[in-house]
Amino acid sequence: MSNSQKLFNDAKKVIPSGVNSPVRYFEPYPFFAKKSNGAYIWDEDKNKYIDFCNGYGALLLGHRRKEILNAVSKQLTQGTLFCTPTESEIELSKLIIRNFPSINKVRLVNTGGEATMTAIRLARGFTKKKKIIKFEGCYHGAHDSVLVKAGSGSAHNGISISDGGLDEVSKNTLVVPYNNSEELEKTITKNKDVAGVIIEPILANMGLILPENNFLSEVRKITKDNGVPLIFDEVVTGFRISPGGAQQHFGIKPDITTLAKALGNGFVIAAVGGKKEIMDLLSPNGKVYQASTYAGNPISVSAAIASIKTINKIKHKLYSKLEQYNAMLTHAISDMATDMKIPHQINFTSSMFQIFFTNKPVIDYKSSKNADAKKFQKMFSTLLKKGVFIAPSQFEVVFLSDAHTQTDLNYTMTAYNAALKSVKN
Ligand SMILES: *Cc1c(COP(=O)(O)O)cnc(C)c1O
Repeated sequence: MSNSQKLFNDAKKVIPSGVNSPVRYFEPYPFFAKKSNGAYIWDEDKNKYIDFCNGYGALLLGHRRKEILNAVSKQLTQGTLFCTPTESEIELSKLIIRNFPSINKVRLVNTGGEATMTAIRLARGFTKKKKIIKFEGCYHGAHDSVLVKAGSGSAHNGISISDGGLDEVSKNTLVVPYNNSEELEKTITKNKDVAGVIIEPILANMGLILPENNFLSEVRKITKDNGVPLIFDEVVTGFRISPGGAQQHFGIKPDITTLAKALGNGFVIAAVGGKKEIMDLLSPNGKVYQASTYAGNPISVSAAIASIKTINKIKHKLYSKLEQYNAMLTHAISDMATDMKIPHQINFTSSMFQIFFTNKPVIDYKSSKNADAKKFQKMFSTLLKKGVFIAPSQFEVVFLSDAHTQTDLNYTMTAYNAALKSVKN
């Protein structure tokens, strides 16, 4: 029995399902990580993996990036938690505001879910309205307002996807299909009680789904025309698509933005920012309540400052390199799948991609669900055996980091070749 298997058996006795976040589980058992560096993770059995999960996108600069470790080590000598303001919080806020011109003020929180929860409460507090519109398949964290799927019928009333989720909450979230601005417009004009629209500008939680031509600008126009605040959930795309996120890339200004994953490059931090008149509603001066003991803690803040500074310093090389590597990898995988006559789609942009085993374009929740997820699981298992770790689900994304080298890519291509062969058989 491998060490990971032994540890998993042990973990199950004290941790529900043996994991601290559901997507970490996969058949027959997850590997247990021991250490990481750059582009690699080593497990408790001394296997080495090239990491393409990369903390679900957080590790844009790779594991244990030197600039970030140096900043955090320095801060460790000064203190880890003060719960009174620090100068470094101002520095980080200014960096975020400089990179994201739609943000006038920003509050630091700990997780992406906390950021979207606060964003939604702000939208409700600002408009004094109740309903939120989300897009089918978008993930915004594990709280009740957004842990909602489309109900049947045309009313778009959401239903909770979790036991313990209240209908009273989920029915106030309306769910419309991604890449369908007509349905958004209909829903907004029919419901006079819409407090906000929340969207992943690039959908990275249904596999990878790109916004079609003009979709985001139409979403912006419809929300503006109807006086409804638009929340861009840039927890994945912030700093990953560009130093100013997807909003910089597409040239669209949302009213509220949430950031997390790559903001801390491996440290726990998130942010909610937006227009001054909305952000100033936060307590204690405003009446929208939000609070957290660890918010803006100096360790995470020092990591985020070093992250943004590093990104800004190397941006001219960083994004073009990631894009070039991603194009090489996805073209190679697509060519191999075509040669093997495996029906597939590959969606890719910037430093993210996903393959779907289907012959129809994947543009929304339904078309993503339609792909053969069993084939994906087979591909995942073979990749893992070959030492290539991607997120263990069709509905996640493959993330490149600055630490990947051409040698890693070449090896990864051969691993995908074997993995695609296993799918074919
Ligand atoms: C991961 C994710 C979240 C939730 O962030 P947590 O830090 O896991 O709470 C929210 N929105 C998007 C788009 C995400 O990918």
